[in-house]
Amino acid sequence: MTAQLARNLSLEEMDKESMLHPFTSISQHMEKGPHIVKGGKGVWVTDAQGNEYIDTMAGLACVNIGWGRDEVVDAMAAQARELAYYQTFHGMSNEPAIRLADRLLDLVPGDMARVAFGCSGSDANDTQVKLVRYFNNLRGRPEKKKIISRHGGYHGTTLAAASLTGLPVVHKAFDLPMAEVRHTETPHHYQFAAPGQSEADYVADLAAKLEEMIVEEGPETVAAFIAEPVMGSCGMILPPEGYFTAIQDVLRRHEVLMIADEVICGFGRTGRMFGCERYGIEPDMVTIAKGLTSAYVPMSASLISNEIWKVIEGGSDEVGVFAHGVTYGAHPVCAAAALANLDIIEGEDLAGNSDAVGAHLFSRLRAAFGDHPLVGQIRGIGMIGGIELVADKASRERFDPARKVAAQGARIGLEEGLICRAMAAFGDTLAVSPPLVMSEAEADEMVARLVRVIDRLAGELESEGIWKAA
Ligand code: PLP
Repeated sequence: MTAQLARNLSLEEMDKESMLHPFTSISQHMEKGPHIVKGGKGVWVTDAQGNEYIDTMAGLACVNIGWGRDEVVDAMAAQARELAYYQTFHGMSNEPAIRLADRLLDLVPGDMARVAFGCSGSDANDTQVKLVRYFNNLRGRPEKKKIISRHGGYHGTTLAAASLTGLPVVHKAFDLPMAEVRHTETPHHYQFAAPGQSEADYVADLAAKLEEMIVEEGPETVAAFIAEPVMGSCGMILPPEGYFTAIQDVLRRHEVLMIADEVICGFGRTGRMFGCERYGIEPDMVTIAKGLTSAYVPMSASLISNEIWKVIEGGSDEVGVFAHGVTYGAHPVCAAAALANLDIIEGEDLAGNSDAVGAHLFSRLRAAFGDHPLVGQIRGIGMIGGIELVADKASRERFDPARKVAAQGARIGLEEGLICRAMAAFGDTLAVSPPLVMSEAEADEMVARLVRVIDRLAGELESEGIWKAA
C-alpha cells in the first residue's frame, strides 16, 4: 500500500502530494488541486466528475485523430503482444520502426535522408542541435555553431530546446539560454508592425533584422535557424505573407541551415500535411512529434537532409560510432501506433478536413466576433489559430498581463463545456486547435460556446471595472 493510500487521500489530494506539474503555479496548485480528465471520444473529453467538454486544444494540439480510435489501440496491443520492446542501439532494429522511417522519408517535405527517433518534441530538438554541431565538426567548420530562434518561439524544455524556446519564463531560474543561442524578432504583424506598415514592408524589415544579426555575429559562426511554421505556445501566430521566402533568402546567403519545427504543425494541423508545404519552407532538418502518434503514445523524430547525412556518413570511420540516441527511441509499440495513426490521417484526409472545417470554423468565429469590442484579431489557418483579446480594439492596446484576462476566459470556458488554453506571451489569446476530425456541426457548437464565454468574460471585466465596451 502506498503512503498516500494509507492516509486515505482523495485522488486530488494524492496528486497535490505527489506530482510536479509542468507550466503550473505550484502555490496555486497546492490551493486548487488538479482537474482530472478520465475519458475521451472524438473531440470530446470527460472529467472525473462526469462533465463533458469540447477540447478546443486537442490536448496540447496533439490528438489530431481525436480520442478513442480503436485502430491505433489495436495496433499497439498487437505489437506489444508480439514484441513489446526492442532497442535500436548497436545495429539492432524492429519492423514497425523500419516501416515508419521509410514512410516518413516519403511524407516529410525536403530532401530528407535519415530519421532519428526520440520520445518528445524537446528531445528531438536537442537532437537537432547536437546534429548541427556534429555536421559542422565533421565537415571542418567547428566555429559554425550558433543557432538563431525567435522571441516567443516554443521548442521544448530540455536544455537545448528550452534555450531555443524564446519565452523568458522557460529561462528564468534555469540559467538558460545556452551561450550559442540567439533570438530574433517575432513575426506578429498585428502586434508588432509599425502603425500602417504593410505586411510586405514588415517582412522586409524582419528579414533585414535577421541578416543584421547574422552579419554581426559573423556568418561563419551561425549554423542554423529554427522556426515553427505557425508559432504555437506564444499565441498561435501566423507568419505574414512572404515571411519564410524572405527569411530563407537570408539563410541561403549565409549558409545557415533551416530547421522546421513541425511538432504542432505537422500531420495536418495547418490544412496541409506539413506547415512547410503551407508556407513554402524548404527545410534542411525537420522535427516532428505530437501528430505523429496523435499522442496515443510518446514518439518524436528528427529528420536530416541528404546533404547533412552525406557528411555524417562520410565522417563515420573517423569519428567512430554515432554516439547519440535513447533507450525508447524507435520503440516498436510507438511505431505501430504511428503507422495506424498515419493510416487514419491519410486514409480520412484529415489535412483536407482540417483545411475545410478549419475554414468554416474561422469564418464562423469571424462572423461571431468580428465586431466584438473585446476581440482584436481572429487568426487561423487549417485548424490552428487564436482569438486575441484586447483592452482597446482601435489601438490594439493589450491588457495588463497581471490581470490574466485570457486565463479568466479559460476558467469561464470550463463552465460552458469547453477546455480552452490561455496564451499570454504577447497579450491575451485563447488558442483554437481542436482535433482534426472535428465536424462542421461540432465546430458550430464550439463557436456557440465560445460566444457565451467571451460575452460572459466581457461582462465580468466590465463589472470588475477592468474594461469598458467602447
Ligand atoms: N516544438 C513545438 C513547436 C512545440 O509546440 C512543442 C510542445 O508544445 C515542442 C517542440 C516540445 O514538445 P514536447 O512537449 O513533446 O517536448
